[in-house]
Amino acid sequence: MYDYDLLVVGSANADLVIGVERRPGAGETVLGSDLAVHPGGKGANQAVAAARLGARTALLARVGDDGHGRLLLDSQRAAGVDTVGVLVGGAPTGVALITVDPSGDNSIVVSPGANGRLTPQDVRTAASLFHASRVVSTQLEIPLETVVEVVRNLAPGSRFVLNPSPPRPLPAEVLTACDPLIVNEHEAKVVLGDAAGVSDEPEDWARLLLAKGPRSVVVTLGGEGALVASADGVARVPSVTVHAVDTTGAGDAFTAALAWRLGAGEPLAEAAAYAARVGAAAVTKEGAQVSFPTAAEVAGL
Ligand code: ATP
Repeated sequence: MYDYDLLVVGSANADLVIGVERRPGAGETVLGSDLAVHPGGKGANQAVAAARLGARTALLARVGDDGHGRLLLDSQRAAGVDTVGVLVGGAPTGVALITVDPSGDNSIVVSPGANGRLTPQDVRTAASLFHASRVVSTQLEIPLETVVEVVRNLAPGSRFVLNPSPPRPLPAEVLTACDPLIVNEHEAKVVLGDAAGVSDEPEDWARLLLAKGPRSVVVTLGGEGALVASADGVARVPSVTVHAVDTTGAGDAFTAALAWRLGAGEPLAEAAAYAARVGAAAVTKEGAQVSFPTAAEVAGL
């Protein structure tokens, strides 16, 4: 019997957002809108998305002993995430400085801060969380050596889900543990490296990625839905037609939902179809965490 449906190991950032008419050049100052501060980071987003759907969720992350860290802890608890694994201190909370111009284009500077201090030792110390969790998901906004340690600490019978974002080449030890590896087009190309050049077809990327060792692969295609690939073959997951307002966090909501449904025993294609509904619901509202749907909202889509 597991205490948690999902353990998310990953980043927690404060997103500091300012609207600007145009971005400043070197040495220039421009005036912008009032500052908006939102809880974010891929790990924190995934945990909130899963908990909002009803998954029993825990987060293993590190934040600073500062106001941003408290904001992140509050938003996790408000969503129902167990924060027993959130470590405090060692560096300031991670921050994303985001400017948005009138066309909606972003420029982002990330200071990883405490996320960069989530260590392999922190993973080993949290062994009891790993043993209590049916599924463990992570991303790459924490050190790669910490992700490797996550793979080494998986409890027998638990399932590992990775969204390699921001993408980088991955060691075989991590790739072979993924079930599934979840990538968008850009992430697929970086993980494949030179091999991506052989085709423009997402179906081919899915097959090539599968050949690198994961037990399953999911390629997300934005408004086009997704693809699933496993030993059973490659299949399209249809998208849900919605009026897209803001796609921020759609990938995190998709990943969290997929991890949760797989842990509940659903086959990959079925779990991905549910995750596509969750991703679609998330793009109908502004923002990341505030846009994540409840299970009732997904049912009503
Ligand atoms: P991000 O990095 O912006 O969070 P991503 O690139 O990792 O996202 P996407 O492929 O954009 O991930 O979105 C994840 C899933 O959400 C898609 O596979 C799809 O099911 C759903 N989705 C995203 N955008 C739309 C849209 N415009 N309409 C319907 N569904 C969408």
